[in-house]
Amino acid sequence: MQILVQKFGGTSVQDKQSREHVINHIEKAVIDGFKLVVVVSALGRRPSAYATDSLLDLVDFPEHSITSRELDMLMACGEIISSVVLSNELKKKSIKSVALTGAQAGILTNADYNQAKIKEVNPTRIQNEFKQYDVVVVAGFQGKNALGELTTLGRGGSDTSAAALGAALKASRIEIFTDVNGIMTADPRVVKNARALDIVSYREICNLAYQGAKVIHPRAVEIAMHAKVPILVRSTYEKSGGTLVTTETSKTLGVDVSDRLVTGIAHLANISQIKVQTKEKEAYRMQSEVFRAMADAGISIDFINIYPTGVVYTVPDVQTKKATAILKENGFKPNVMKDCTKVSVVGAGMTGVPGVASRIVQALTGQGVQILQSADSHTTIWVLIPNKDVYKAVNALHEEFNLSRESTILHDFLTER
Ligand code: ADP
Ligand code: ASP
Ligand code: MG
Repeated sequence: MQILVQKFGGTSVQDKQSREHVINHIEKAVIDGFKLVVVVSALGRRPSAYATDSLLDLVDFPEHSITSRELDMLMACGEIISSVVLSNELKKKSIKSVALTGAQAGILTNADYNQAKIKEVNPTRIQNEFKQYDVVVVAGFQGKNALGELTTLGRGGSDTSAAALGAALKASRIEIFTDVNGIMTADPRVVKNARALDIVSYREICNLAYQGAKVIHPRAVEIAMHAKVPILVRSTYEKSGGTLVTTETSKTLGVDVSDRLVTGIAHLANISQIKVQTKEKEAYRMQSEVFRAMADAGISIDFINIYPTGVVYTVPDVQTKKATAILKENGFKPNVMKDCTKVSVVGAGMTGVPGVASRIVQALTGQGVQILQSADSHTTIWVLIPNKDVYKAVNALHEEFNLSRESTILHDFLTER
């Protein structure tokens, strides 16, 4: 039995017209002889009534008074509604289908409400349903914990559900259907001439996804990589195309893997830079106190630089008020800059190549973009800039690394194929 997992995001299932496209893809796969697990997101985006953000609005998130357990009960409804609506429409087209919640589909998680991690997938129920049905529609973004309570997997988590089910069922492929033509060299909403990548390694995409390329969730890429199941990211509104995410793209074993210098540019907006300074002799105490205070308050920090008289780091804008209050309570005088964006230039091939950082700085300063902070690893260079400059910055970097043109490595692979 050949199993295919298809995941459809919020915009893909938002209304009857979009779901016609969804049903066509499902019907084609059934005709091709696959048994299908179809993972769905909640219907549409805010202000659609059953979109996740609209459900959160019902309890005035983030100023709500309910527990994180109850928040998960609310959020899980969006995907459950979506699974039943789609299954109903499939049945109307005489496609044999059944809807399951994430828990019914065998997704077991830890008890970390709102951000649960998948501990186990028991595929028995889905395998049994395949005796009777061709399509099992599963509500994405959710599972249950050991107490049987509903949990959700963190925003964008339907991708993770799809990858986990694909891995557990040893699917031939996981197809992520969305509103763009694949994984692109930058967010197409920001860079008009961003180009869809044809084939990329899990490694390259994991990096891009972690840095904010929200077209696929990084945990989904990790799960698929571990299980060696290829992912195809493609548009719901096109019959073909998309980005194939698989193992390294060179066919020849035993030679160095030739990676792209830069695969793409990702960005994460709405973060705050916090600087805390002190006299040099008090620095050790201050540094450990600041980080301990953030950890104790459950505030996740990023982009950390430590220097002899201070520390600088970032937090999401939504956490800034809390972080600042805690620092003041501890006797510090933080310097806060809100509304910043972290821009990441990602490419596994930049290791050891001189001049990449200098090209980034020149491209940005040439456009008058102020760099507030920077850092690098062997595959990524990050810069922090003001939100207002994001279009200028991402477009300048995209241009600097010629990302709208096909790279030679990609070309070599395609001609070999
Ligand atoms: P879905 O609801 O289908 O899961 P998402 O909104 O989560 O869709 O992800 C798709 C969106 O991701 C696109 O509309 C696009 O604006 C954004 N995006 C950000 N970076 C990239 C990228 N590098 N390639 C493609 N899309 C990207
Ligand atoms: N509906 C959830 C969200 O908006 C999960 C998803 O779409 O993947 O985050
Ligand atoms: Mg998504």
